[in-house]
Amino acid sequence: MATPTPLLMIPGPVELSPGVLAAASAPPPGHTSPRLIEAFGRSIERMREVWRCGPSGQPFILAGSGTLAMEVAAANLVEPGDRALVVVTGYFSERMTAILRRYGAEVTEVTAPVGEVPATSEIREILQRRGPFKALFATHVDTSTGVRVNPEPLCRLAREAGVLSVFDGVCATAGERFDMAAWGADLYFTGSQKAIGLPPGLALMVAGERALTAREARKAAPPPLYLDWQSWLPIHHAYEERKPSYFATPATSLVMALETGLGEILENGIEARLETQARAAAALRATWKTLGLRFVPKTEEVTGNTLSVLLFPEGVDASLLPRIAARGVTVAGGLHPAVKATSFRLGHMGYTVTRPDYLRRAVEAMAGALQESGARVDPEAAVAALESGLAVPA
Ligand SMILES: *Cc1c(COP(=O)(O)O)cnc(C)c1O
Repeated sequence: MATPTPLLMIPGPVELSPGVLAAASAPPPGHTSPRLIEAFGRSIERMREVWRCGPSGQPFILAGSGTLAMEVAAANLVEPGDRALVVVTGYFSERMTAILRRYGAEVTEVTAPVGEVPATSEIREILQRRGPFKALFATHVDTSTGVRVNPEPLCRLAREAGVLSVFDGVCATAGERFDMAAWGADLYFTGSQKAIGLPPGLALMVAGERALTAREARKAAPPPLYLDWQSWLPIHHAYEERKPSYFATPATSLVMALETGLGEILENGIEARLETQARAAAALRATWKTLGLRFVPKTEEVTGNTLSVLLFPEGVDASLLPRIAARGVTVAGGLHPAVKATSFRLGHMGYTVTRPDYLRRAVEAMAGALQESGARVDPEAAVAALESGLAVPA
């Protein structure tokens, strides 16, 4: 008998819906074909709904991974010598710092112990006393720690200080609440393989008016051609008007998948998807507690809904992972250096949160693997915790 394909429960790439898989695996359309133009235009419109950016937000759909979106943010918004403030909550915030420094930014980092978020009061203080800053950068959910920041107060502080606010949503967009227009965020980006639920390969971002203006007002040399969003604006405008255009070949198969994937996310409105996501996350948190597992994020308030970053229990080590894999579920090891050997990660975002059977398989694999590792756990109680959590509104 053929081994069944393991269930992919890492923090991206994620399991695909049948609709997304079909759209991505059809023969790739040409970049000026009517079908592609329609998919591109509709994806732009649907991104505005998922990002809640209002009509003035400008979506960009670029071929590349989430890190490309980070590069584009830095390349367009930062001129050599500009000061940037980075709120550090894990590995990916530190990557943002590294990228910003390559573009000549003078970066100030505000940090907190692993599993925590720097205090808003401290961020306010730094913005007021140590500015002027050009931009504030934060990671909505850092995939190395599972820590979630609350973007809303950060957006407000940034506005008050006349600073741009930029959020890495690579492990959050479409899985965590983000009200771009209401909060006044200036740039929010993601990669296709996380909570958007596509294969890897698209960098997706929405720039607000202030961000677009900052790029136009740039005095330093323009960014590299491919990274310069001015290169991409005319084709995005054209596609939105359902006209053919060319700057560089879009990832046409992925754009077909994007149209479908965003459509599925918006099927009952973004609010409904966020509720499904939050309920799945809360049910899993309750389940992990039943199994005696503890979390890297220190409080529930700073725990992201899109993944679980868990500590190995007493007497259990990384040999747990192959034991979970042997039960048909792939999870990920630790990433942040401080908890690399002591933690592991399980992604639950995108299409997966709409599939209670997937979540149940993950819980059964986890419970079985823990038992095999010598932990005293009750697999039936774990499954019961999951099911009662999924049954009630979050
Ligand atoms: C995955 C991830 C990235 C990097 O995305 P790639 O697609 O791997 O380049 C950046 N930030 C966060 C928060 C992520 O989870």
